[in-house]
Amino acid sequence: MRNPFLSIRHFSTMSPVAACHVAVIGAGASGLAAARHLRREGHSVVVFEKESQVGGIWIYTNHTEPDPLGLDPTRPRVHSSLYSSLRTNLPRESMGFREYPFAAKKTGQRDPRRFPGHSEVLEYLKDYASEFGIGELVRFETEVSRVWRRGSGKWEVRSRKKNGDDEDINEAFDAVVVCNGHYTEPRIAHIPGVDRWPGKQIHSHNYRVPEPFQNKIVVLIGSSASAVDISREIASVANEVHIASWSNSTEESATLPGYDNVWLRPMIESANEDGTISFPHGLKISADIILHCTGYKYHFPFLDTEGIVTVDDNRVGPLYKHVFPPSLAPWLSFVGLPWKVAPFPQYELQCEWIAGILSGRISLPSEEEMTKEVEAFYDSLKASGVPKRYTHNMTGYQFEYNDWIAMQCGTPKTEEWRIKMYHATSLNRNARPESYREEWEDDDLVMQAYQDFAKQISCKQAS
Ligand SMILES: Cc1cc2nc3c(=O)[nH]c(=O)nc-3n(C[C@H](O)[C@H](O)[C@H](O)COP(=O)(O)OP(=O)(O)OC[C@H]3O[C@@H](n4cnc5c(N)ncnc54)[C@H](O)[C@@H]3O)c2cc1C
Repeated sequence: MRNPFLSIRHFSTMSPVAACHVAVIGAGASGLAAARHLRREGHSVVVFEKESQVGGIWIYTNHTEPDPLGLDPTRPRVHSSLYSSLRTNLPRESMGFREYPFAAKKTGQRDPRRFPGHSEVLEYLKDYASEFGIGELVRFETEVSRVWRRGSGKWEVRSRKKNGDDEDINEAFDAVVVCNGHYTEPRIAHIPGVDRWPGKQIHSHNYRVPEPFQNKIVVLIGSSASAVDISREIASVANEVHIASWSNSTEESATLPGYDNVWLRPMIESANEDGTISFPHGLKISADIILHCTGYKYHFPFLDTEGIVTVDDNRVGPLYKHVFPPSLAPWLSFVGLPWKVAPFPQYELQCEWIAGILSGRISLPSEEEMTKEVEAFYDSLKASGVPKRYTHNMTGYQFEYNDWIAMQCGTPKTEEWRIKMYHATSLNRNARPESYREEWEDDDLVMQAYQDFAKQISCKQAS
């Protein structure tokens, strides 16, 4: 069904200066945006997707990996990291693509809530794909195992159809856009002594439902949105939940307001052979399970750039504006690396930029200028004491970044309501971690968003 709020920016294919043959790896939200914008610009596009449908991380599965910590590099992988009860942590109005608003649909099985459950996001992404005819560009159940550059400058992509008799296929492309997501490869906390600790450990990548935590004493590490959700959910069945985080005070331990079985603890000091976990100031707790809600690592097992692009302490680099390795630009690009952002609208801009640069409509600085700028960026992080692993953390400047790209593309800047709504939601989430999805004070912004969506359709109908 067509989105009634489809915007005026759904213009027809542009006349490119040059059309390229482009491989997109992944058909999650970023790969769909890449396919949409590359094709709109006139490029020919092949999207490689190892799953059998679009949606990426939003395809919920109750399967988990056999290695609950995700340490074994040979383990069979499960891509999604969603838990069954997951609802979005951004309101749908500011979460959706600008070109294709995530407006509530009150029809059929759809979830019209402002912070909908995960299956609604998947439906939305399927709608987006069908609106822009992206499905026909995707090779489903086709996993990319290697991407490398040939002497000719072309990129070679090796893929294999799942469960097929087919052999590996190598194909040449002018450019490759990497959209493989970065919420699949667990990052775990370093805990001295944990190797001899007899309890069980699991990463939130493999958390689905609270039942396995029934009557257990759980130490949950982390303070992200997932840690907040999962700790509350587990508290309903576990005997005790201890939330260990660098952001909790080392001086005192308090219970979480509203819960008498959830404690806020400082970071763990050690795990001990007798089954206890030690915290600062001599506190020891006997625990059954450590649940790591400690985030993920960037991982590009298929990518061979002969050492030009590396992942060093979770910094993917060197990358100009988090997208282009200067010496391989614009023929290799990455979409969706930044975090602490509203992802979908940023993907759109990054993809529009990549597509425009590949066609020659938009220009990039020289390799030397880009390299200098990347070095200056890394130097500024170092000077401010920001660890490498925070390189792609965009707290505080995503909209400035987005607007810079928008300017390159000749696209309107981020709407005021969208910026205000993002900030209002962050404040509300901190103030009401339990109930921000039900109670908010930015109805005026919701109204502005829907007025904006409605204006877009009337412009489109008039054009
Ligand atoms: C628990 C959790 C909650 C989140 N909540 C929100 C939220 O509320 N709102 C929000 O906006 N964002 C949220 N996000 C962020 C979310 O990840 C992004 O919104 C976005 O969906 C990521 O899209 P992506 O396309 O970059 O990656 P993915 O969705 O991960 O898609 C990558 C795709 O690439 C495919 N792929 C990978 N490797 C290969 C290969 N070698 N060959 C072929 N195909 C391959 C995968 O199968 C997958 O389909 C959340 C993330 C997590 C983990």
